Amino acid sequence: MKKLLIENVKIITMEGEDIIIPKGYIYIEDNKIVKIKEGVYEGERDGLEVIDGNGCVALPGFINCHTHVPMTLLRGYGEGLPLMRWLNEKIWPFEARLTEEDIYNGALLGIIEMIKSGTTSFIDMYFREDAIAKACKMANIRGFLGSPIIGDMWERQMDETLRLFDEYKEDELVKIFIAPHSPYTCSFETLEKVGEIARNYKLPVHIHIAETKDEVNIIREKYSKTPAEVCKDAGLYDENKVIAAHCVQLNDDDIMMIKDYDFTVVYNPQSNMKLASGAAPIVKMMENGINVALGTDGASSNNNLNMIDEMKSASLLQKLTYSDATALSAYDTLKLATVNAAKAVGMEDKLGKIKEGYLADIILIDFNKPHLTPPTDIYSNIVYSANGSEIKTVIINGKTVLKDYKILFTNEEEAILKANQSFIKVIERLK
Ligand SMILES: [Zn+2]
Repeated sequence: MKKLLIENVKIITMEGEDIIIPKGYIYIEDNKIVKIKEGVYEGERDGLEVIDGNGCVALPGFINCHTHVPMTLLRGYGEGLPLMRWLNEKIWPFEARLTEEDIYNGALLGIIEMIKSGTTSFIDMYFREDAIAKACKMANIRGFLGSPIIGDMWERQMDETLRLFDEYKEDELVKIFIAPHSPYTCSFETLEKVGEIARNYKLPVHIHIAETKDEVNIIREKYSKTPAEVCKDAGLYDENKVIAAHCVQLNDDDIMMIKDYDFTVVYNPQSNMKLASGAAPIVKMMENGINVALGTDGASSNNNLNMIDEMKSASLLQKLTYSDATALSAYDTLKLATVNAAKAVGMEDKLGKIKEGYLADIILIDFNKPHLTPPTDIYSNIVYSANGSEIKTVIINGKTVLKDYKILFTNEEEAILKANQSFIKVIERLK
């Protein structure tokens, strides 16, 4: 049995705003947190891996609830266009020229970036999820992966989802979701079929809904309904767990409607601001009891996969939108990236908190930094002052993957080089 001890550490449990252990230890056996306690560890030290957490704050790892991880290769590509033109003229032609190797290289690059900024799980939607799954296994990160179901090829794509589901159904780290791209890129019949398959196989549904006003207009013209209504009428929400990215343009009726379902809204503030999609009515959704989690979206519309950076934007944009400095507090913002995100993936009894019996997905934030001094309000320091560069150590499923700022599972420089080479090759293919 593998035993790991993190000692001399301040522990943010995420069990409640006041439940902080000022100095204590976390004892882990295999992949589970066995004991959390204030004070000094006095048990057996033989065969124990010890991490000194002095000066650090332990926090549950972040769960990035919406991304397209290989899109790191498109970082900065096709800047300055509105969403529909950006997709049609830049993103989709580039993506059509990606090989499986490129997707692996882009995914590994994104995973390294995420781990170095404290992310221990992510929900992904991209082609060739098998390559992304391999990168997850290599890096020992949790991936909730869904191949996009989009356009006319939906039957083949659905088969691909079921094939991957079969391959990974026993896997500890990789879980397969079903991922219809959106109500404007899937037919009504496709959405109906996805709903049915999701129910039959108990697959969570990961989708984009109501990202832009353009989408709302396209759907209104076709169906005389809102995007959220179309998905509901197709039976997509019935008995299914739904993880809906964006939801920027939900109206009040939509909000009242989705609250009756097992529905998580994934807020992607930086992507929404960058593509001028708008500000999602997160405060209103939360007041109505809707589960809200946080995502970065792909690196092409963000342009990074940094959840600390995203939390700051998340909170500030709500304050600005509602002209209310008390809107979306630092602690509530941290919940979007941990507790609420764990609920989104159906693992609220295993992830999102530092708690005995929970899985050991833990990050250590080094507070010995000028920009985190003094630690007057620890939540505000993490959400508004940190930038991700303070993530010193990351443990996923009981295994240390980042130690003293260093990635342990691969050669980081080589991964950067390979991703750069993939980008150059795609540009060549576009000529
Ligand atoms: Zn997206």
